[in-house]
Amino acid sequence: MDLAKQKPALLYTTAVATLLTLLLAGAFFNLIPWTSSATEAYPGTQQQPGEVPVDPPGAVEPEPGPQQKQPLFEGNINRLPLEMIIDLLSFMESPIAGARINMTDGQLPGAPRAYRNGTHEGTDYYNGFSGTPIARGTPILAAADGIVVRIDHTYIEMTRAERDEYHRISAASLTTPEDILDKYRGRQIWLEHSGKVITRYAHLDTVKDDLAVGDSVTAGQQIATVGNSGTGPAITGANTEMHLHFEIWLNGYYLGQGLSAADTRTILRGILE
Ligand SMILES: [Zn+2]
Repeated sequence: MDLAKQKPALLYTTAVATLLTLLLAGAFFNLIPWTSSATEAYPGTQQQPGEVPVDPPGAVEPEPGPQQKQPLFEGNINRLPLEMIIDLLSFMESPIAGARINMTDGQLPGAPRAYRNGTHEGTDYYNGFSGTPIARGTPILAAADGIVVRIDHTYIEMTRAERDEYHRISAASLTTPEDILDKYRGRQIWLEHSGKVITRYAHLDTVKDDLAVGDSVTAGQQIATVGNSGTGPAITGANTEMHLHFEIWLNGYYLGQGLSAADTRTILRGILE
């Protein structure tokens, strides 16, 4: 056999095979421009900077939905001046009709939570601290127009043994592990609003039966009721610790993250009262 002739042939075969593989992979993952279909080019997302968008003939301008693709603000919203944060989030309203923001620092975002070795990421609405009666069954309202992104129709309360185990794991960790924190929030509903703002409603007693993930809700629409799910007293069915825990998120930061309690209160009062 002539090695000098065989080697280039082998190289040629390998090169062709590699090229074919790349082309197939490119087509599969849509990496090559000419494999994209013409319809995908329309939404304008692939425009070059400064290019004027040209609508295809007969195109109907889509109505701006509650879920805007662009975040309200890039990065950590808590770094902005307080007035600007309030202005950006002023489209929101109180999740409990007529409720005031809690004046106790410990019930605001950023407060330490020693029992689970972590930090509070939301605002608590308790009876006696919110200027309006709050009890099991108090209606919880959508804080703004939005889409349901999570709703816990089936929820099973943790047992005493499970809760003790979560405490033990949290104590041995740097902070409350996210999966355990999720258990402590109990029954929940999450909404996504304009500008990719997310609101989370926790410790719920009930969620609306007729709501599902993907459904639209309007500001002020009842989505759930106040309960104490995920808290210690819920294990025995006790009627204490009834409150709404309410969080606002953008780009992976909760509103109030890294801010003083006073600044956080100013922002929350500015947007929700
Ligand atoms: Zn809370």
